Amino acid sequence: MANVLVTGGAGYIGSHACKALKAAGYNPVTFDNLCTGWEDAVKFGPFERGELTDRAALDSVFTRYNPIAVMHFAALSQVGESMSDPGKYWHNNVAGSLALIEATVAAGCKNFVFSSTCATYGEQDDVTLDENCPQVPINAYGASKRAIEDILGNFGESYGLNHVIFRYFNVAGADPEGEVGEFHQPETHLVPLMLDAIDGKRDALTVFGTDYDTPDGTCIRDYVHVCDLVDAHVLGLKWLEEDKGNRVFNLGTGVGFSVREVISNSKMVTNREVPFFEGPRRAGDCTKLVSGSVRAEKELGWAPTRSTLEAMITDAWRWHQNGHYTK
Ligand code: UDP
Repeated sequence: MANVLVTGGAGYIGSHACKALKAAGYNPVTFDNLCTGWEDAVKFGPFERGELTDRAALDSVFTRYNPIAVMHFAALSQVGESMSDPGKYWHNNVAGSLALIEATVAAGCKNFVFSSTCATYGEQDDVTLDENCPQVPINAYGASKRAIEDILGNFGESYGLNHVIFRYFNVAGADPEGEVGEFHQPETHLVPLMLDAIDGKRDALTVFGTDYDTPDGTCIRDYVHVCDLVDAHVLGLKWLEEDKGNRVFNLGTGVGFSVREVISNSKMVTNREVPFFEGPRRAGDCTKLVSGSVRAEKELGWAPTRSTLEAMITDAWRWHQNGHYTK
């Protein structure tokens, strides 16, 4: 079984990717410092604990596992925090990724799949974003991811590092079989916060801003089911194995939902009231981020099957009630 090095494999998206990789016949090797991930979430292959900036640790992992590819998920990903502490994002995301990319090239590993973000696009006019839209991030998180995309471009050109970049929209939901799910501490994402508020695990949800230029005044996002998202990564890996070249793909559904729509859908799925109050805007939030995923569908053959709001909230709610990690 071919090894794939999965950085951030103990995190939300990385752990689902490990499950999908294993199902597709690969051996996912998790490399994670557990700063936001969970050892309990590493269920589908070996675990190596380490820092991305620790080059000796990375070199040792490459020597021992000789992976055919790297899937790089490990990153800090909170928009708000990236505005209050931008240095943390540049150190962790950019310096860490640079060390990883250099180690990948040094080890002679040729294939790199990178998890980037729609936050690299920034505030655009009322359009459905595609991969050719200008990248003008308005927060340090998006800026850090755009910088890593640039590094990959340079290393691709100079050293032949083949790469696929996925720009995610908003990821939600959980493994329908309940083996892994979303569990951040602290939690900042809309869906899990809302589910916590519904069952009293925390205070009411704050809706960040009701004066945006959208039909109901709240921000609009394009939500993708985590299982659909990781399926695209397996297709991206095969794309690289078939030597199809460097490519960027947006992963969204093309349909946007406002914060109020997510709240009303959750009420429907859970049959419970969502306690919330209306608060001020959160720094760094764009009004609307919605993608076309035409390219991923056409070129990769990606066919999202679970990315309805109802399915995402149903799976997230099931995980929320039954699953959590302790270490
Ligand atoms: N949001 C909110 N209250 C919260 C968390 C998020 O109103 O407690 C909003 C946020 O402003 C954004 C959307 O929900 O419009 C999705 O935010 P999230 O943090 O889940 O993802 P992001 O879009 O920042 O990647």
